[in-house]
Amino acid sequence: MLSERAKKIKPSPTLAIDSKAKAMRASGVDVINFGVGEPDFDTPENIKEAAIKAIRDGFTKYTPVGGIDSLKDAIIEKFIRDNNIQYTREEIIVSCGAKHSLYNIAQALYGPGDEVIIPTPYWVSYPDQVLLNDARPVFVKTDERDGFVLESEELESRITRKTKALILNSPSNPTGLTYDKESLERIAEVCLRHGIYIISDEIYEKLVYDGITHISIASIDKEIKEKTIVVNGLSKSHAMTGWRIGFTAGPKDIIKAMTNIQSQSTSNPNSIAQMAAIEALRGPQDSVGKMREEFDRRRRFMVAGLNSIEGVSCLNPNGAFYAFPNVSSFFGMSYGEGKIENASDLALYLLEKARVAVVSGDAFGEPNNIRLSYATSMENIEKGIERMRDALKRLG
Ligand code: PMP
Repeated sequence: MLSERAKKIKPSPTLAIDSKAKAMRASGVDVINFGVGEPDFDTPENIKEAAIKAIRDGFTKYTPVGGIDSLKDAIIEKFIRDNNIQYTREEIIVSCGAKHSLYNIAQALYGPGDEVIIPTPYWVSYPDQVLLNDARPVFVKTDERDGFVLESEELESRITRKTKALILNSPSNPTGLTYDKESLERIAEVCLRHGIYIISDEIYEKLVYDGITHISIASIDKEIKEKTIVVNGLSKSHAMTGWRIGFTAGPKDIIKAMTNIQSQSTSNPNSIAQMAAIEALRGPQDSVGKMREEFDRRRRFMVAGLNSIEGVSCLNPNGAFYAFPNVSSFFGMSYGEGKIENASDLALYLLEKARVAVVSGDAFGEPNNIRLSYATSMENIEKGIERMRDALKRLG
């Protein structure tokens, strides 16, 4: 018999659509995949070289559980340079991807009876990681008309004596939107007043557009830094999804607990990937800028294309690599025998009839929208949008 815990958990829905699209492609169907959440670029050459050197040098053994000191130092430098926050080595831990960082936080902080506030739409793993640790996710809806930003009054109205933490994600997956400094300050004030932790997932920090600057909520002041646990990593910024390096910065006691948990589960993150991560953080950053520029070009094209389809309305996302259009105007429409009742039906319709893979907003707690990733070629975006236009025209 499986544990109660295992029964509560569903597989990651974004990975599920990705594998369905890949299976269709493997069987010869030409599917345009807007479902993926990873850069389509190759890892930059200098980073690969650092990994090859690590192998040649025999850097292939266990390392300290929370990461080697030289990587922690490179991460400390990154926080000073990019976020203007000072940390010490005891406030940093390196884990096997940002997802693992978030999981370690969940293990270190949540327990039975605890409530964790998650603004919707949310990244798919947050609720399940809360459930896996016997706590309760409390969903707080944000409004598309406000750019999906969590309002501080709404947040405050959901805080109880059991509230342990708030999970924030800016730039956001799935909306592609970001929080400005004023919104972050209002949220920080509420969290401080109620003594709750902020878990700030900043994995898309390097992917911001339209001239905006990423702001870490931990940088607001010293007090808020003591209540914030920042998660970041190299998967999205340096096209390193497969290398599995994520990191966390936060209060010493939490980092220590996370390190103990990691010591009993995965041990250290991969030694070779740690050497590559040092090069990613300290080496030339021109490839990061080039990838960002290319994402920006695709973003403009995709958003304009989506908004040119009758019935689709898409906010202008200024971060990450996702567009999150509202498709509710199609609900209630039919095609032949089939009927579109919700975003999941629409996603399935698009996959089967337009051969375009998108993710239903249901996966993220927002049933009126679908998520499209533009981490794919311009050619695919062009083709995919035209296929969607044709297929959606046929609904009536
Ligand atoms: N947070 C968010 C919001 C993400 O979108 C992802 C990746 N899809 C992660 C964390 C996890 O990234 P990693 O590959 O570093 O585990």
